[in-house]
Amino acid sequence: MNCYNTDVVVCGGGISGLIMAKSLIHLGLRVACIEKNKVPKQENRINDLRSTALLYPAVDFFKNIGIWQNFENQAQPLNSLVICNLNPQVGKIDSSCEFFAHDLGINTLGYNLPNKVIIEKLQKLMMTSERFLYLEEDYVEHIKPRSFDVVIKTNKKIQINSKLIIAADGRDSNIREILKIKKIKYDYNQRALVFNIKHLCNHDSKSYEIYKSEGPCTLVPLKTKRFNGHFSSVVLMIDDKNTNDEIFSDKKKLSNFITQRTGNILGDCQVKSEVNNFPIISQAALTLTYERTILLAETAHVLPPIGAQGLNTSIHDIKNLFQLTEKRLKNNLEIGDFEFLKDYKNLRKKQITSRMLSVHLLNKLSISKNEVVSDIRKFGLNFLSNNKISKKIAMKFGMFQ
Ligand SMILES: Cc1cc2nc3c(=O)[nH]c(=O)nc-3n(C[C@H](O)[C@H](O)[C@H](O)COP(=O)(O)OP(=O)(O)OC[C@H]3O[C@@H](n4cnc5c(N)ncnc54)[C@H](O)[C@@H]3O)c2cc1C
Repeated sequence: MNCYNTDVVVCGGGISGLIMAKSLIHLGLRVACIEKNKVPKQENRINDLRSTALLYPAVDFFKNIGIWQNFENQAQPLNSLVICNLNPQVGKIDSSCEFFAHDLGINTLGYNLPNKVIIEKLQKLMMTSERFLYLEEDYVEHIKPRSFDVVIKTNKKIQINSKLIIAADGRDSNIREILKIKKIKYDYNQRALVFNIKHLCNHDSKSYEIYKSEGPCTLVPLKTKRFNGHFSSVVLMIDDKNTNDEIFSDKKKLSNFITQRTGNILGDCQVKSEVNNFPIISQAALTLTYERTILLAETAHVLPPIGAQGLNTSIHDIKNLFQLTEKRLKNNLEIGDFEFLKDYKNLRKKQITSRMLSVHLLNKLSISKNEVVSDIRKFGLNFLSNNKISKKIAMKFGMFQ
């Protein structure tokens, strides 16, 4: 059996796991990351078409741990978010509210980056670090917490002793299963179709969330070479029972559909990529911590993709854990012990709960086919648009301020 000693084990080499690992390496810790899948070679890379709107607190964190300069070139600034309601009878936007970065005294709300760019760059950055051990095509089978450390054994018969396990192995977490931590799950019977479009009009660095029953359709601008046209990534939420597969599997039909679904806001649209499918759920683990273990990101909380809250909430988990670790190290205190876990739980529980609740309610409001609810959506947007104080409060909440 191969045996390693390290400070922290991160289970899961997805976006959250890698950002977490990189931030801890920045603090001088040794980190082992265990990833179930093999890192695909460049040419075979599975095409996750999702992009992530990283809000400015997340970008600040990237700067803080010295990695933002690696993403800047491919990041599309987001100067405003326009939330609109589509009137299905006339196929036109009937109300909207635009949230400008300058309303909060900042230059950009954030930046949009393709998920695969974030993962590829992080992997490249870390593989050269002496403090980083990457174990791919492996997973944890056994966990034994002890007074001063925790011992894990993997499927490939590797043993690792460390101070802390960070479970970032996603919504179907194996660590959560091993530790018998229960979860609650809410299924919206919705799915998100994700694809990229080219559109006639310039997006002017604006992101759009266009509401209609069945859920929102979100357009987030993508950075493209100059003079090559205007591109956005689309997240289209539809009812699971929607049987329009004939439209969704035909790029030409989908292009016409999306031009209409977006109320022609960016002119004619052409679908320029494959279409990915994601089931929409809310899910929460019943605890964020267990002996010498922290549940992070989607292992702890899954949110519907509204208002770019998912990964941004996870980055707040990471930032809080990073700051807590930094403080402990400065004071020559241990990481991973009971007090450490308690502090983390206190830092995160309230924000995660309030964020999950508000995104859940917003999604329920967006799905409803009830005419009264549709009027509420319209009224709400007009109200926010004309009421500076409420608008600022809503923005501050959305931006984690
Ligand atoms: C359509 C859509 C659009 C979205 N848009 C945004 C957005 O604009 N902004 C935003 O903030 N968020 C957004 N989100 C949310 C965001 O994409 C997710 O929060 C994020 O991708 C989850 O990352 P993760 O690292 O937590 O989990 P994952 O990406 O699921 O990573 C988990 C990793 O663990 C590995 N793994 C699984 N099991 C094991 C095991 N047993 N052992 C070891 N490794 C294992 C997996 O292979 C994977 O690499 C969106 C989500 C969806 C569905």
